[in-house]
Amino acid sequence: MKLSILIFTASCLIIVSFVIRLVFHKDTITAMGGMNAVIDEDTFTHQRKRMVKEQIAYRGITDKGVLVAMETVPRHLFIPEENRSYSYYDQPLPIGFGQTISQPYIVAFMTELLKLEKGDVVLEIGTGSGYQAAILSKLVKQVYTIEIIEGLGKEASKRLKAMSYNNVEVKIGDGYKGWPEHAPFDAIIVTAAAEHVPQPLVDQLKPGGRLIIPVGGVYEVQDLMLITKDASSKVVKESIIPVRFVPLIRK
Ligand code: SAH
Repeated sequence: MKLSILIFTASCLIIVSFVIRLVFHKDTITAMGGMNAVIDEDTFTHQRKRMVKEQIAYRGITDKGVLVAMETVPRHLFIPEENRSYSYYDQPLPIGFGQTISQPYIVAFMTELLKLEKGDVVLEIGTGSGYQAAILSKLVKQVYTIEIIEGLGKEASKRLKAMSYNNVEVKIGDGYKGWPEHAPFDAIIVTAAAEHVPQPLVDQLKPGGRLIIPVGGVYEVQDLMLITKDASSKVVKESIIPVRFVPLIRK
């Protein structure tokens, strides 16, 4: 008798804990479209924590907001199913249409360089999967992001909405020209390599604004440049590190 009460109580506890997990992982389940995802979620969370510790904090990223965002945004939900198990590896990954999601460390490094503040309005060029936009959305008031490949942009927009990143707006178009309707921006991040710094983007920076962009030839090692506009609108360019990005497409 006592044993059956014990078994009954244990079963109830298991069911209750399962229901609690379901409730807390509701968004994730919706975004991944199945309950099997719940089982993997703990593993992904664990891998994400390790990624932040071993790849990002270890390499010198100290901005608390950036570290928290990287630990919070479920990167695996931005990665096509066939590569999902590599989501927290120290490398870029294909996202279709010949494009890639950047290495996690590079995402963190570029985001930290933008020195973001809560009230900022940010423009991203190269939405891709929407991952970088999701990271930015955790740190600022509003994110505008432009993607030139319609299939990627639409998919990213749908994904970001489903995951309730409500302060991100995606546009399909050529990011070279920026987004004049929402300018000026506190910060601009370009996640594809341009042959030169697009003047429209410099023009759309606020005084005090920061622009981060890889500059260099197609499939060469490029220069990650930080361009700042001071309070008197003087523009200063600084070369930060060598990087490798997919090219900024010009039509
Ligand atoms: N930030 C993305 C990855 C960027 S990959 C992420 O977090 O997943 C670079 C992206 O820039 C690609 O999706 C590519 O299609 C896009 N791109 C290239 N040229 C562009 C342009 N002129 N305007 C807007 N997007 C462009």
